[in-house]
Amino acid sequence: MVDSDTIAAISTPIGEGGIAIIRVSGPDSIEIVDKLYRGKQALSTVDSHTIHYGHIVRLADETERLDEVMVSVMKSPKTFTREDVVEINCHGGLVSVKRILEEVLRAGARLAEPGEFTKRAFLNGRIDLSQAEAVIDLIRAKTDRAAKQAVGQMEGKLSRMIKPLRQRILELLAAIEVNIDYPEYDAEQVTHDLVTKEGEQVRLEIQRLLQTARQGKILREGINTAIIGRPNVGKSSLLNALVQENKAIVTDIPGTTRDVIEEYINVRGVALKLIDTAGIRETDDVVERIGVERSERALETADLLLIVLNFAEPLSAEDTRLLQLCDRQKAIVIVNKIDLPQKLDLSKVREMIGDAPLIHTSMREEQGIDELEEAIVQLFFGGELAADDAVYVSNVRHIHLLEQAEESIVEAIAGAENGIPIDMVQIDLQRTWELLGEIIGDAVSEDLIDQLFSQFCLGK
Ligand code: GDP
Repeated sequence: MVDSDTIAAISTPIGEGGIAIIRVSGPDSIEIVDKLYRGKQALSTVDSHTIHYGHIVRLADETERLDEVMVSVMKSPKTFTREDVVEINCHGGLVSVKRILEEVLRAGARLAEPGEFTKRAFLNGRIDLSQAEAVIDLIRAKTDRAAKQAVGQMEGKLSRMIKPLRQRILELLAAIEVNIDYPEYDAEQVTHDLVTKEGEQVRLEIQRLLQTARQGKILREGINTAIIGRPNVGKSSLLNALVQENKAIVTDIPGTTRDVIEEYINVRGVALKLIDTAGIRETDDVVERIGVERSERALETADLLLIVLNFAEPLSAEDTRLLQLCDRQKAIVIVNKIDLPQKLDLSKVREMIGDAPLIHTSMREEQGIDELEEAIVQLFFGGELAADDAVYVSNVRHIHLLEQAEESIVEAIAGAENGIPIDMVQIDLQRTWELLGEIIGDAVSEDLIDQLFSQFCLGK
């Protein structure tokens, strides 16, 4: 056990709720809660992993009942933190929950730091670092798919990929060691060949993990999408159609309609973070100019542009300017108002947009939204979302480590191919092994651990 004190925090979101949970973890957790709990049996006498009805009273005045509760007692080591854990399920009102927590602290517990429960789970060997990070991802997940992926990682999927890879490198290092200790006349050559062959396998595996990273990021953070086009082409209608068809996840609509509106919607399991922009164009109107400037900034950070054109009007200079963005960014061109007579020169549009998909819609007649959604998924996932149980590397820290690991294995292979002394090659291999280890929390510094866990919410 790493820390010997007992910690407590509210583990459910702060606010009104049907029920709230105060979690207490540490060697004295049962004893501490016992001081406040009044029920049929003292908690010190109950079996592990059982739940008990009773009341929480005030330390100073035992006749004062703070709340009616259900208390679960889970004894070490089969708990989330591997310590003794007591969870007090009480009524959700903020005041009552806080009062109970205060009493728990008075009875001898310390207020947990953000992420401290998960940190203990990690330090006590219950979960590895990538699993702990998955807890953060799960808390922040915006779609079912992202949540599933985080759960997968929590269950140790990424670790299960990393561990055999490290084992492979370790065996390679052992083989080198043997050859160094018992050099036969061609040992050096044999070792170089081995590194080249095995190293290549390791490199391919790392590369495969990295390829999942882009999709992983999208699953986790959503596709930053900007809807752009001249006024009146149907941008707001498109936004509304997408929101209506799909469940809006988060809505944050600032004061004026000219502002940038951000909205998450769930398109076939992928979170689309929509930025509705107030037509990008030259303007003298001050309010509008602020809108335009914001829009332009939003544009630069967008992963996807939805460029809307009007089927019933000829192509304008402004349209042309927007279509030129197709060269730089992922874009889908939407020709709207196809219910009206055609004035738009489609062949000219096609010429300008290269490979970008072109979708015909009528927001008025609710046509083309399905095709648009299909095009979005196609553009980012080649049309096929990988099975739910696929491993995605989506954490920035993991991606960075994998990139470094890839670099050093490439160095090792190049060294072996060029006949560089084997102990130099060994250093690169060792480094690859260490970098991969950092992903799952072997050989990570205390600073890094503190920094990672401080990202958690309180009570996790
Ligand atoms: P925005 O200025 O680009 O956001 O455009 P709006 O979505 O506000 O639409 C401008 C006008 O065009 C509104 O009166 C809409 O009802 C109308 N409109 C939008 N989509 C269509 C469409 O597909 N066909 C027709 N006929 N009108 C449309």
